[in-house]
Amino acid sequence: MTLSVENKILRNVLDIESFARGRAVKLVKILDQAERAALAKLGTFKDTSTFSRRMMSITLTELGGTLADVSERYTNVLNKARREVLQMEYNAASKALANDLAKTTTAKVATRLSTGRLSTLLAAPFGGHTLSTWVTRQNSNLIRATRTELAKSLALNETVQQASKRLIEGFGVKRRAANTIAKTSLLQAGNDARDEMYRDNGQLIEGYQYVATLDARTCPICAPDDGRVEENREDLPELLRHPNCRCTIVPITPLSEDLTRPAVTDQDFRTVNHADGSTSTKTKIVSTKRTTQNFDQFFRSQPASWKRDWLGEERYALWRAGKLKSLEDLASNTRVLTVNQLKTRLGVDA
Ligand SMILES: [Zn+2]
Repeated sequence: MTLSVENKILRNVLDIESFARGRAVKLVKILDQAERAALAKLGTFKDTSTFSRRMMSITLTELGGTLADVSERYTNVLNKARREVLQMEYNAASKALANDLAKTTTAKVATRLSTGRLSTLLAAPFGGHTLSTWVTRQNSNLIRATRTELAKSLALNETVQQASKRLIEGFGVKRRAANTIAKTSLLQAGNDARDEMYRDNGQLIEGYQYVATLDARTCPICAPDDGRVEENREDLPELLRHPNCRCTIVPITPLSEDLTRPAVTDQDFRTVNHADGSTSTKTKIVSTKRTTQNFDQFFRSQPASWKRDWLGEERYALWRAGKLKSLEDLASNTRVLTVNQLKTRLGVDA
């Protein structure tokens, strides 16, 4: 069975996500090197001696140096993956579009991303930052987390051995960071490829639809736009809107029907402990249904407990009291309002 262009694109997004998970594993391996180097530095001191300020500074200098060294490899892995996604997604999405359009028109669909545009897209900043700024920021987060952990050893007069354990603890942030950066940069590449393809074939496309994910992790920035249709791509938000954003824009063709897609009605969150001492959250989908609902309708059709989990206790109270009526009130275009900001917006006493 051939999928319609919108369903094909939604499936591509899942493929890109799983590709990103594979790249994240590579990135964690590259960062493991920096961790090993810092631990080796600590290993030059006697396990049982008291961890000192001097040892801390030596370890952090080593860490900074190795991170600078591995950054280039890290960026290369990501850029290679971005290039792959840009080309693959342009091809796959344009072919799916051509396939649908062939039934109603003889017009030719552009199916190849030019080399010039590819270079421009590769160099283009995402989320207001270039990839190297992101990587630099991630490195400083890693150093900060490690410094925080080592400072505890200092304060508690711990041994070098105990400090080593804390160093590993500080590195716990790397797995999550690598996942976010891989997923965000590759989903961004997928979106860039589609936007480029939409621009090249704009005269053949009737409209565009905003698609968020129907599950409990969809954020209040994206949720209210789910299902929105506009004639021009520019009238829908630029994607991605935030790190880990899973939103997608799909084209409307003469064949388009109401989009039917899976909604996650129940999921479990489970903490996974990794061998290196870090943890991450794994979600297990418990039940799904196929639906044509948008997020707003999906939300309203959920039981009270689901609504409370998604909104949080205080926002849910506002919802129950009928003060909060529209999901659009929960966020501005780029950020979620705090409960107090929300109360001000709704004219409720804080
Ligand atoms: Zn989003």
